[in-house]
Amino acid sequence: MSTKRSRPPCSPPARQLQRAIARCLADSFAEGDAPVNRLMTLQRNVPFAVLVSALLSARTRDQVTIPVATALLDVAPDPSALRAMSPAALESIIRPCGFYRDKARHLLALAHRLQSDFEDRVPDRIEDLLSLPGIGRKTANLVLSLGYGQPAISVDIHVHRISNRLGLVETQRPEQTEQALQRVLPRRTWSFWNPWLVALGQRICLPRQPRCDACPVKKYCEKKLGR
Ligand code: SF4
Repeated sequence: MSTKRSRPPCSPPARQLQRAIARCLADSFAEGDAPVNRLMTLQRNVPFAVLVSALLSARTRDQVTIPVATALLDVAPDPSALRAMSPAALESIIRPCGFYRDKARHLLALAHRLQSDFEDRVPDRIEDLLSLPGIGRKTANLVLSLGYGQPAISVDIHVHRISNRLGLVETQRPEQTEQALQRVLPRRTWSFWNPWLVALGQRICLPRQPRCDACPVKKYCEKKLGR
């Protein structure tokens, strides 16, 4: 007889399972020793800090992003200070990040768009955020959830990988995962899942060799790939 669990979204057992997973992930996140914890401390729920650090973090590890974003936000804590920087000065600060020339170009264009279209305020609507240079759904949802406390799920490679390993969703690509998670998770919890899953992905549920023995949700995980 098959031991496969029935799927969310609405069956009571699936809801109970989600709640149990959520509690374990929240407790694990509260330990606070993942790079994403340090990044969120830097962002301080400030939309501009979330936006800048998220843009810098594309294809760059958090261990590299954190000191670079700290240095940049020290000299450019708002759009007008960022606009005042020369391309060379900006590039010299963000050089450790991957694709730093593209990112410098996007950051300066971003600072000008915020001035011309949004009165130097980071917008709080997904359509407006997606219209900004260099900003995709992952970053836009991060600004909404971490910067503005709105219900939004930012899907990066960790969120995509672990959501599938846990059996919360069955998707092939990260672009499909956001909508799939929205269907199965309570809206009031959406903004928590990115930090929870990113922290787990950085410390335990690694891409190639997940450390299942140390995993706080191992008893709920469908696959337990490391076993
Ligand atoms: S049990 Fe293993 S595969 Fe499942 S979430 Fe934990 S680390 Fe990842």
